[in-house]
Amino acid sequence: MKLQGRMALVTGASRGIGRAVALALAEEGADVAVNYVSNEAAARDVAENIHKMGRRAMLAQADVGDYPDVFRMSQEILRDFGHLDILVNNAGINSDKSFVKMDHASWRKVLAINLDGVFNCTKVFIDQMIKQSYGRIVNVTSVIGQIGNFGQANYAASKAGVAAMTKSLAKEFAGKGITVNAIAPGFIETEMVHGIPEKVRNRLLDQIPLKRFGTAEEVARAVVYVCSTDGDYITGAELSINGGLLM
Ligand code: NAP
Repeated sequence: MKLQGRMALVTGASRGIGRAVALALAEEGADVAVNYVSNEAAARDVAENIHKMGRRAMLAQADVGDYPDVFRMSQEILRDFGHLDILVNNAGINSDKSFVKMDHASWRKVLAINLDGVFNCTKVFIDQMIKQSYGRIVNVTSVIGQIGNFGQANYAASKAGVAAMTKSLAKEFAGKGITVNAIAPGFIETEMVHGIPEKVRNRLLDQIPLKRFGTAEEVARAVVYVCSTDGDYITGAELSINGGLLM
């Protein structure tokens, strides 16, 4: 097992990519704090699956966009786990509209969760990671942050912001035993893409050389890779998991 004894927090771990990441980290031996914002039943199911593997799991409810809430969650995690080794900033939303129709509230909401959320969660754990001279921070960005997309100005800006922040933090913390990387998925089969109309989906598939959307588990394996000793020499990277959509 590659992550035996490591303590991890995965934000937005109740479903989709976050759920797969939480389970993959636990499979490799990590104890996992399962963050969610509202879907407690789904988060509980993830925690129960982790318990069945013989690892510790705790529910960690918080809105990542709300700094005081995130600070409270961090205190609960540090109390229960003692310390944190791995932080996966995965929680994210979209609120798509052409720019002309996009209102300020939708812009702010996506930026608050997708970009401020990464700041908040990293901020509350970084001092402790520096103190222990060890940390693995993985930020889930998106191919949309790399290429932009019609109707996703807010989402694209948030993800490009996280990608740039990843590189800055990688430089700041390289000397402290902390690596900071981003994983940039393309189109992955989760609730986030279930609303894509058939016609648009087919147009997207035409542009993906591997001719399919990815799975959450395929993204999770990349997260395990950069968190394990296999990834010790990787920092400041943005690893694309997109079926060749961008190359
Ligand atoms: P998803 O299925 O919609 O799941 C979203 C998760 O985030 C849920 O666990 C949700 O918790 C949580 N969440 C939402 N708002 C939150 C908040 N304010 N605070 C804490 N948790 C919150 O999404 P997904 O497709 O797995 O996406 C996960 C990440 O991958 C996102 O950052 C997304 O931008 C990125 N991504 C996805 C794709 C894709 O094609 N699916 C592609 C590229 C990048 P509740 O269940 O409690 O609501």
